[in-house]
Amino acid sequence: MLRTRPAGSFSTLPCGARPHTTTFRYSDRVPLAERALIERVRRRIPNNTAVRTGIGDDCAVLRIPPGREILVTTDFSLENVHFRRAWHPPDSVGHRCLARGLSDIAAMGGEPVAAFLSLALPAKLPQAWVDGFMSGLLRLATRYNVTLAGGDTAQSPQGVLADIVVLGSVPRGKAILRCTARPGDRLFVSGSLGGAAAVLHQMFRQPKRRLRPNEYTRHFFPEPRIDVGRVLRASRLASGMIDLSDGLSTDLSHICEESGVGAVLFEERIPLAAIGKDQQRVELASALHGGDDYELLFTVRSGKRVPATIAGTPVSEIGRITRERRMFLKNSRGSRELRPQGWEHFRRLSTGHGWHR
Ligand code: ADP
Ligand code: MG
Repeated sequence: MLRTRPAGSFSTLPCGARPHTTTFRYSDRVPLAERALIERVRRRIPNNTAVRTGIGDDCAVLRIPPGREILVTTDFSLENVHFRRAWHPPDSVGHRCLARGLSDIAAMGGEPVAAFLSLALPAKLPQAWVDGFMSGLLRLATRYNVTLAGGDTAQSPQGVLADIVVLGSVPRGKAILRCTARPGDRLFVSGSLGGAAAVLHQMFRQPKRRLRPNEYTRHFFPEPRIDVGRVLRASRLASGMIDLSDGLSTDLSHICEESGVGAVLFEERIPLAAIGKDQQRVELASALHGGDDYELLFTVRSGKRVPATIAGTPVSEIGRITRERRMFLKNSRGSRELRPQGWEHFRRLSTGHGWHR
């Protein structure tokens, strides 16, 4: 027999605003079944006007403001490649997972809108780990007003595999690209470099020692430079830009290749990060080749004035773009050629520079 619903039942509410009353009982030792897990995540997502329909349907439906273009980026976070469960607490893994995507949006001068998370989890993973991961990810999402609007969930035969897709938007034709640097442009970087890699090296040196994430935030909770990127785009200051995920030498080589130019770096001007309680300066090699800093590297046409801080973040002038298509590192004693030595997957270990994770 058909029963009519009483007026005011949930069917009159928009989909995203359906009350979530179900309580799940689960053992803390294993992740929840797929449905329950998705529902648990869904209950933690705040509403966002840019997302008409988020988690719960076959596709998310997003509103694209007129006059804007969509930015899309995707990044893996793989256990034992990008993180280790013994070294990285789950909220750090979740934070870094989203930070990688947000940093790409920042590097285009864009504003993040929505994120999509594909997650493969081993059957024996404690649910508390998944909750911690989601907490780290959603905390960062909230700070940048990004809505987790969908994803996929599966069982992994081995290790945690997370793939994040981040969507952003930018005024039409205004995204800041890698391919638009010109000879004579000045080269700048936000923040300081080498902190994340130096912490990683410390963990490799003392694998049993648990570092406190709040003393080493450069590594465990890097800040995507969304605000810096947005100001650089809105002020038309940057002529080219990339985010530093693989290391300065490697990411600079990407700008050089895409723009058909070269560069010279001034060694003494590279801002070395200070890490740990005693704020120890990292070595130059960490700043040159270490990955995961998520700072912005950008070029500025000569003659433009650049403030010392942008959106509250210090920026440093560290070099010049040159016509000769090679990279050089210059100091008071002379100049030497700089090769890209940052992180690269599948590169043969025989190059032996020790920067592989
Ligand atoms: P489909 O089978 O149609 O792909 P799913 O059953 O996989 O749908 O997912 C149901 C809903 O939950 C979808 O909206 C999907 O985007 C969302 N979803 C699935 N996994 C995740 C996840 N790990 N994080 C966020 N949303 C997810
Ligand atoms: Mg699916």
